[in-house]
Amino acid sequence: MVKETAYYEILGVKPNAPSEEIKKAYRKLALKYHPDKNPDEGEKFKLISQAYEVLSDSKKRDLYDQGGEQAIKEGGVGGGGFSSPMDIFDMFFGGGGRMQREKRGKDVVHQLAVSLEDLYNGATRKLALKKNVICDKCDGFGGKKGAVEKCPNCKGRGIEIHVQQIGPGMVQQIQTMCSECHGQGEQINPKDRCKNCNGRKIVKERKILEVYVDKGMQDGQKITFHGEGDQEPGLEPGDVIIVLDQKDHDLFRRHGNDLVMKMEILLVEALCGFKRTIQTLDKRTLLITSNPDAARRAEIFQHFLFRIKRAKVDGWCSR
Ligand SMILES: [Zn+2]
Ligand SMILES: [Zn+2]
Repeated sequence: MVKETAYYEILGVKPNAPSEEIKKAYRKLALKYHPDKNPDEGEKFKLISQAYEVLSDSKKRDLYDQGGEQAIKEGGVGGGGFSSPMDIFDMFFGGGGRMQREKRGKDVVHQLAVSLEDLYNGATRKLALKKNVICDKCDGFGGKKGAVEKCPNCKGRGIEIHVQQIGPGMVQQIQTMCSECHGQGEQINPKDRCKNCNGRKIVKERKILEVYVDKGMQDGQKITFHGEGDQEPGLEPGDVIIVLDQKDHDLFRRHGNDLVMKMEILLVEALCGFKRTIQTLDKRTLLITSNPDAARRAEIFQHFLFRIKRAKVDGWCSR
């Protein structure tokens, strides 16, 4: 018995869920509630990350199962406290870490729903996305060369410092983003501004990515488009990472490289044998036959005996 189930509930899994299922649940929720897609759900994103951080680590999970959230907060394993939700997200999706992010734009993660047929046969899917690209009319300068000057309001620092009196003899310094240049540290005379980007240096562009889903790819597999992330002057663009999300199939489930299906048969079919056809994911027809021998028939009969009282099994088969 576990002490608390809140973390399991946040991820929508049962307390006995295997780690694969926890991973999958996190993947779906983290993408859905990522601040890029759902800016109002920051709190939810944080909770999902915390729950995953604990449940994905077998030591922390044990600790949580025994002592609940309190035990985690007291930090029996590896110190208390939680990592930043973004770090967990980056770790999970393999995005650039914080150090890298200084020089590189951030990676963008998209989920692509695919069917089991797509993964079995391979598929090409087109994905439209909007991204920032450097304005080609002004080469990312925002205006004519030489028209860019240091913002006189913040002297190029991009921040303003306000001094506020909060009591007798007490002042408080508050730093805010410069309201004139919006933190850019520079400005362009309105008449010299690039008409194409309006001085913003970047423009939004619609881009179609062709995603090749190879035969045999797995649910959760990542396909990376290097350098296709948002462009920003002075930064190397990050990657676009596509994560495959396999939809459940009506008939088949995948176990590694095997496909498993459940077929309901009548008792009479189990005992006397049957022939059925099934359609494979690449539209071939397979014939399934079963011809139980006498020993197997007796075994099946024994198995069902408790459910079918006094049934005359021998009479059912015409052999
Ligand atoms: Zn400024
Ligand atoms: Zn421009």
